[in-house]
Amino acid sequence: MEHFLKEDLINFETLLEKAKLKGIEYLQHLDKRKTSTTVPPITNENLNEEGIGGQETLAQFKEKWESQIVGASGPRYLGYVVGGTTPASIMGDWLATIYDQNPQTVNSQGDVSVQIEHAAIQLMLDLFQLPNDFLGGFVSGATMSNFTCLGVARQWIGKEMGQDFAKDGINGKLNILSATPHSSALKCLSMLGIGSKNYTLIETIKGNREAIDIQDLKKNIEILNGDPFILISSAGTVNTADFDDFKAIAELKEHYNFWWHIDGAFGGFAACSPKYDHLTEGWDKADSITVDCHKWLNVPYDSAVFFVKKQHSKLQMETFQNSNAPYLGDPSENFNYLNFLPENSRRLRALPAWFSLTAYGKKGYRYIVENAVDMAQLFSNFIEENDSFELLAPTRLNNVCFTLKSDTSQAKVYSFLNALNKSELVYMTPTKYKNTFGIRASFVNWRTSASDIDIIKSEMLNVISHI
Ligand SMILES: *Cc1c(COP(=O)(O)O)cnc(C)c1O
Repeated sequence: MEHFLKEDLINFETLLEKAKLKGIEYLQHLDKRKTSTTVPPITNENLNEEGIGGQETLAQFKEKWESQIVGASGPRYLGYVVGGTTPASIMGDWLATIYDQNPQTVNSQGDVSVQIEHAAIQLMLDLFQLPNDFLGGFVSGATMSNFTCLGVARQWIGKEMGQDFAKDGINGKLNILSATPHSSALKCLSMLGIGSKNYTLIETIKGNREAIDIQDLKKNIEILNGDPFILISSAGTVNTADFDDFKAIAELKEHYNFWWHIDGAFGGFAACSPKYDHLTEGWDKADSITVDCHKWLNVPYDSAVFFVKKQHSKLQMETFQNSNAPYLGDPSENFNYLNFLPENSRRLRALPAWFSLTAYGKKGYRYIVENAVDMAQLFSNFIEENDSFELLAPTRLNNVCFTLKSDTSQAKVYSFLNALNKSELVYMTPTKYKNTFGIRASFVNWRTSASDIDIIKSEMLNVISHI
């Protein structure tokens, strides 16, 4: 064996111990870790001929990169929608790496990883108060989950139009309706060959809302005159965490022929709390649902789940079946994940989720969700009460969308945001809400506390007084 490989094999325990200590050092000082860094220019790298072995590599990483790693999993990283990592999820994630399984089949010669995945999916369904008639699986993120769900929706609408799009390609005009689709859903339309602009934009409810106007939806459905369509709806829009009216959509489903997809990447977690679960009421009637795990479940990147109704399993298999292993008959008889989602080989992403769900249960997740909303509310109150800032929409759940009161020009808003992020104490991202430049702060990290909100407030006041 090559000597560094051999040496590392002998010293495995020491190497893992050192890596563990590095990790603990990061986690224990996470609240002090800077939230942004001045990124050095990219350099040209050459691969070392001899290698240097694991121990020296860790030393080199420490010197070259470690101090530049930002506290993205920390309590004041409010940009995009970025979750943290619970202790148990890290345990599961480390072990997923160590076991290095490739979850595929449940046949007798398979391994137990698919059972772990099914178990984690059942825990998730229970967490979200969803019935067992959904088939679920893990993918890399909500984008891939949307892709999986909308891929099956595409096959469904093809069948309704008397065609097999998975085999023959797309032919004809597909009717897709949505009010506030996430950019990743449009990316999926592009990847699925439908085209990212080939959808009908439904009006949102008047006023400061991003949710579907049901009357306008009905009007557009009537125009279709009985033709099948796909509805992409939202459980939590990224700017203002607005929710479509799922009870009303469920009722429409009794009268019209459509595939109902819900993008609940983060908003689906409203179902974890009796305070907010009215927002997801009726979502069990959807054909497919997207939920991210690396956001509000607080498991490490990358992880998300799709839920597709089991009654559509045949369509799902037609969409994703691996052509090298064409597979006949009932898909539930010889189940293999590679016939149900985009990837063939895949990581045991279920393990970190299974660990975290098992460790903290319904009560733990109820706390994580309610705490994040409380923190969003605290921050939102500050925005409302302060003369320099202004909410762009009411804070409905965990995302606060705001701007500067005096001047909402892009230059001014960006220069404030840049200066704020430069403080390295808090990180937020820009947005444009109904044509106004603004800033979003998204609260999903389980660690965020009222003292973090105090730090953020005082830094914002400091920055605003200097720009
Ligand atoms: C984050 C997000 C996505 C995309 O998720 P990734 O995990 O980044 O792929 C899709 N939809 C919504 C509503 C989101 O918030």
